[in-house]
Amino acid sequence: MRIGVLFLQGGAIEHEHAFRKAAKKLGIKAEFVRVRKKTDFSGLDALAIPGGESTVFQKLLERKGLLPEFSKVPKILATCAGLILISSKIEDGIAGQKPLGLIDIAVKRNAYGSQLDSFECELEAKGIGAVHAIFIRAPKITKLGKGMKVIARHGGDPVAISKKKGRQLILGTTFHPELATSVFHEWLLSN
Ligand code: GLN
Repeated sequence: MRIGVLFLQGGAIEHEHAFRKAAKKLGIKAEFVRVRKKTDFSGLDALAIPGGESTVFQKLLERKGLLPEFSKVPKILATCAGLILISSKIEDGIAGQKPLGLIDIAVKRNAYGSQLDSFECELEAKGIGAVHAIFIRAPKITKLGKGMKVIARHGGDPVAISKKKGRQLILGTTFHPELATSVFHEWLLSN
């Protein structure tokens, strides 16, 4: 498999580590790509879009002409800012911030408060098990479109979701699984 991590900004290296661990565990022979330009997208089987700052991601991707590339990747793990980027609607976005609309969800940025309101907790994820979840200036999913599967909730709110749309499988989390575990990366590679 050709496994990429969007390497422009934010917590990218942790996703690469988690993918390496997941591929090893699953016995998948993999090549790892640090995705920074258009040619890096070619032949990708899976891609992680890390957390960071969604407004900065948007600007960098626009400038590099990379926004159309994401719809061609068969499997995407989008975490935190990555999830904001591929959502359909952003509440509290900055002027001109336009999501990719790869999955039908609305998100509210910084919904738990400032950086100081970041927190950790234990969650039960369907088909995955108990996970330690780290929320860093996380968004909330405020609307779920049709066909979205909820994998985990926190305080009633969906915090991990998945969607199979045609050939594309998307797994999204509002928290940072890559900082605690590789089980979400395993789920993506094996589904
Ligand atoms: N608050 C950030 C944003 O709006 C997301 C934070 C994160 O990715 N940890 O993009």
